[in-house]
Amino acid sequence: MKARIGLEIHVQLSEAGTKLFCNCDSEYRRYRPNENVCPVCLGLPGALPVPGKRPVELALAAALALNCEPPRALVFTRKHYFYPDLPKNYQITQFEKVGGSPVCTGGYLDYLSPDDWEWRRVRIRRINLEEDPGRTSYEGSILSSRYAYVDYNRSGVPLLEIVTEPDLKSPRDARVMVEYLLLTLEYLGATNPRLEGVFRVDANVSLEGGERVEIKNIGSTLDVERALRYEINRQRLVLERGGKVERETRHWDAERGVTKPLRYKEEEEEYLYFPDPDLPPVLITRDLLEAAREKVAEWSPRRVYEEILGLGVKREVAWSITSVPAAARTYLAGVKSGGDPGILARIVGVDLKGELREQGRDPYNPGNWPEPGKLAELSRLVAKGEYTYDAVKGLVLPKLAANPEAPLEELLPEKVEDLEPLVEEVLKEEEKAVKDYLGGKKKALNYLVGAVMRKARKRALDPRRARELLLKRLEAMKTGA
Ligand code: ADP
Ligand code: MG
Ligand code: ZN
Repeated sequence: MKARIGLEIHVQLSEAGTKLFCNCDSEYRRYRPNENVCPVCLGLPGALPVPGKRPVELALAAALALNCEPPRALVFTRKHYFYPDLPKNYQITQFEKVGGSPVCTGGYLDYLSPDDWEWRRVRIRRINLEEDPGRTSYEGSILSSRYAYVDYNRSGVPLLEIVTEPDLKSPRDARVMVEYLLLTLEYLGATNPRLEGVFRVDANVSLEGGERVEIKNIGSTLDVERALRYEINRQRLVLERGGKVERETRHWDAERGVTKPLRYKEEEEEYLYFPDPDLPPVLITRDLLEAAREKVAEWSPRRVYEEILGLGVKREVAWSITSVPAAARTYLAGVKSGGDPGILARIVGVDLKGELREQGRDPYNPGNWPEPGKLAELSRLVAKGEYTYDAVKGLVLPKLAANPEAPLEELLPEKVEDLEPLVEEVLKEEEKAVKDYLGGKKKALNYLVGAVMRKARKRALDPRRARELLLKRLEAMKTGA
């Protein structure tokens, strides 16, 4: 049975700096409750909304990145409903009817599936720019709590609503697409996808011969996949038993891993939409559009990924770099300042990234990466054969991960210039291995190389040279005997 999946994705423009219509902070998580507020986002009488420049620029950049025809103007609409976390009793959003219009319609996104390295396309139906409401919370459950607490810190934070066509074919596809979309927005400097609650997904899914079901309130990309898996199985069982899948809205319960029916949903008519009389249309000027176009052209995951591939890097490593913008910026800047593209890719995309993870240091934080020039220098030392990659990986990268500011001179291990004394010592101490080798057991050579490496301790040594030297001496022993 084939599935069709369409998503509605809400993403906060957490990096905009300001809320959508006032100068409060778009990143509200660092405040105590009701500290990040003003008369506008509290909906006090007489306060007037003024569209922020950064939120508008970022929404426009997002529209272009999703290949939408840019709008001539942004038109805002009021959507009315009553809830304690919505102090004005209406949300300012965009709506194509009643004389309004969305940011844009009719785009698409090509996203990379790292499962099979194929590019797939999902059509974008529309994008809206709107305000996030505040938050209501309870002590424990809503039923047992003595109070409902409202916090308006989030009220008015710019939120993009991105609606796809039902082009996605599997739960995995849906997850991969959302991850790629978030990465695209992160590259634009629009959002930080790792902040708590920064995006929410509603997923619509239907099976051949059944109605579509909407699953509300999915909070992570992993849960996009889990919720859709569960829901597809549920619908399949209903159909196989000869039942009918009803058109309904269900709620994703992440803890139990199930979808459950929701009892009530407003119809669009009940929202009493009308254009906001406080907000004249925001004209999209040519300058605004040009700036957005340039940014989109330079910082898209696809552009970066293909540039890295073009440097001869394997796709797994190229994607590992691309999927962490701070790593990608470090890598590309490192190549520009003369780093060896292949060695630098291994450092940034594999071993230093792994080392950061292992030490619990966030690789998405640009401050945790060393200066690109320093890594470029390191890659050149390896390329010139001054140090082996293994020595850099084992002795330098762990220290660089712990302290990206540390100067290279202090980190580079002392080199063993004169290998011969070490080789002689090993030949003397490892009588058995030497005898084995001379008796025809070629594998004993590996053991001897290892013994030389251990003698070098924390100093850098080239295992190829150690092997050559050992071989020369052992062959001499053979012929000499
Ligand atoms: P509404 O206006 O009720 O929200 P829309 O027609 O705008 O409904 O669609 C909402 C979402 O449902 C979109 O993401 C769309 O891709 C998806 N969708 C529409 N039809 C189907 C379907 N048959 N199966 C799965 N998803 C669908
Ligand atoms: Mg909808
Ligand atoms: Zn405010």
